[in-house]
Amino acid sequence: MPECIICRRKVLMVDQKGLCGECRAAATLEVATRLDTIYLHYRTVQGSDDFEECLKSCDLIIKEAEALLPYEKLEIEVAPPLPSEIIDMMREIKDDIIMEEAERLLQSLDANTAADSGRLPIPPRSCGEAALKLRELKSMMSAPSRLADIEREFEEKYRTSIMD
Ligand SMILES: [Zn+2]
Repeated sequence: MPECIICRRKVLMVDQKGLCGECRAAATLEVATRLDTIYLHYRTVQGSDDFEECLKSCDLIIKEAEALLPYEKLEIEVAPPLPSEIIDMMREIKDDIIMEEAERLLQSLDANTAADSGRLPIPPRSCGEAALKLRELKSMMSAPSRLADIEREFEEKYRTSIMD
């Protein structure tokens, strides 16, 4: 008698992938449910302007896609885009969203700074807070090196204010 590749029970028959009827039904349901969640949150990422909300949805999508990886390995019930592709894509999109937030942070500092003044009127505390925020944003990125240009710009413009 064939053995199911998931529950390892000997059963009368398994399908082409080697799953028994019960495991097949469970797999189908789990994949469909997780994909629903993924699409729901993807719509949020595409449609929302709220940084925290988008970030949360990116993380949820990545978590759901990670839970689907075992199915991808077994080639069960998953179709393109594959969970691993979804994870890569969402990590990049999440980094994009974080970059935009970092740019907004820099712009908000710039907006408070007179364009041609040599000395910056921004209080050191604001610069310190911005530096902390930048570091926090960087720590959330999959490819933190992408933030290098923004960090450099921040250092050049506002570092002296922090040191004062
Ligand atoms: Zn089974």
